[in-house]
Amino acid sequence: MSTTPSEQPDGKPSGDATQDEPWYRDGLKFECTGCGNCCTGSPGHVWVEEDEIKAIAEFLDKPIGEIRLMNTRPARGRVSLTEYANGDCVYFDPQKRGCTIYPARPRQCRTWPFWKSNLTSEADWKSIQRDCPGAGNGNFVPLEEIQMLAAQVDV
Ligand code: SF4
Ligand code: SF4
Repeated sequence: MSTTPSEQPDGKPSGDATQDEPWYRDGLKFECTGCGNCCTGSPGHVWVEEDEIKAIAEFLDKPIGEIRLMNTRPARGRVSLTEYANGDCVYFDPQKRGCTIYPARPRQCRTWPFWKSNLTSEADWKSIQRDCPGAGNGNFVPLEEIQMLAAQVDV
């Protein structure tokens, strides 16, 4: 929640101008190595909205009802993609170690690793680097882009 800075007698805002800026105000590095870790492993959720299910159906040229029935499941009041017993996402190809619906992948996948939950603190960001070798390495991502991505999903 943003707040209105208090004013000094001269009308100028008081305090440090950077105090409300996030810890990642100077940007972060990220470049996907294609390891596939974020699509596999421990059970989890890939949340999808109706428009995203529709996009997957269109990409695969299948009825949306089939995608909804076969590849999604209700969870915690939302809808998630299903996964295999080993935790792999239903759309992960273990041979190619890639996403079979990449152009139509959900927002949650497009915005990784810049989720609010990963950006809460520098420690949270560092903790995901264990599983995601691309986080913290490679291309520079500026603050504005990080914030734009983080605002797209509620994770
Ligand atoms: S875990 Fe990170 S580096 Fe590996 S595929 Fe996912 S985004 Fe790319
Ligand atoms: S939809 Fe694609 S990118 Fe997203 S978790 Fe599944 S395999 Fe990975």
